[in-house]
Amino acid sequence: MFPRKFDYVAPSSLDETVDALKGAGFAKVMSGGMSLLPLMKLRLVSPELVVDIGRIPGLDQISEEGDMLTIGALVRHYQTAGSEKVPAALAAAAAYTGDVQVRNRGTTVGAVVHGDLAADQPAAVLALGGVIVVQGPNGVREIPATDFFVDTLTTAIEPDEVATAIKVPKGGSSAYDKLGRRGGHTDYAVAGAAAWVKKDNGNITECRVALTGVAGRPTLAEGTAEAMVGTDGSAGAIAEAASKAADGVSVLEDLYGSEEYKAHLATVYAKRALTLALNE
Ligand SMILES: Cc1cc2nc3c(=O)[nH]c(=O)nc-3n(C[C@H](O)[C@H](O)[C@H](O)COP(=O)(O)OP(=O)(O)OC[C@H]3O[C@@H](n4cnc5c(N)ncnc54)[C@H](O)[C@@H]3O)c2cc1C
Repeated sequence: MFPRKFDYVAPSSLDETVDALKGAGFAKVMSGGMSLLPLMKLRLVSPELVVDIGRIPGLDQISEEGDMLTIGALVRHYQTAGSEKVPAALAAAAAYTGDVQVRNRGTTVGAVVHGDLAADQPAAVLALGGVIVVQGPNGVREIPATDFFVDTLTTAIEPDEVATAIKVPKGGSSAYDKLGRRGGHTDYAVAGAAAWVKKDNGNITECRVALTGVAGRPTLAEGTAEAMVGTDGSAGAIAEAASKAADGVSVLEDLYGSEEYKAHLATVYAKRALTLALNE
């Protein structure tokens, strides 16, 4: 199917992008187009204007500043997956995103802004304590990942804003694992988890675990994280903490599993991600 008619602009700077979005009616930013174009072709989304940021120079870099890593808006999944600077949870989530074509075109920032409930990288960014940098008519603001994911396909970016980067703190160790819809790591997650831990003197001092595919948005497994802190990170401590992964989470049934099965997978993948993170 063809998309409905739309106007198209390809600005050459972020300022021009913000100008294009201002008062444009129903406009959509396009980065990789890997989610936007299928939705337009299915006529599930019909913007009047597509603002293609793909030609803006300087947005395809992964850079380090102090204790933060910045991933620009045009960094493709394959770049995130292959960078030694990127924390293991996010690199793995990018490596497990879609297929080769999708990883060559789609962007990490686009996947996070899109906010699919079963996507891989949003959970990793949430577990790592990342922030999403956006630019709009009122300037630049940084939105913590904990406030960014509002609901299925709904994130805290405003329609007249463009996401310019994601920042993730360096330090600690992390991992991501998932059950893909076609088994293994292939396709969107039936369920998955990203874990981040910091250890001092043999004990866990900080921990975050984020689930994907389990609730209507990427969600922190707070019970698991709290139970991990203060432990030595042993297999027993991980199993005990992971058993709390679905506590307080609004688990959703979908085509890929019942509520009970999803809650079970939350514990399985929280355990796997924590085990991997502690052996990173
Ligand atoms: C066959 C196939 C398999 C896939 N499998 C997986 C998978 O296993 N796991 C997974 O997580 N994802 C999967 N995806 C989705 C893929 O990762 C997309 O690349 C990603 O969701 C969106 O990134 P994008 O850069 O292509 O964004 P686009 O498609 O360009 O945009 C997606 C949405 O985000 C908005 N947006 C994008 N960038 C910005 C920005 N900088 N500022 C403001 N708004 C922006 C757009 O307006 C649009 O609403 C798959 C996609 C396909 C086609």
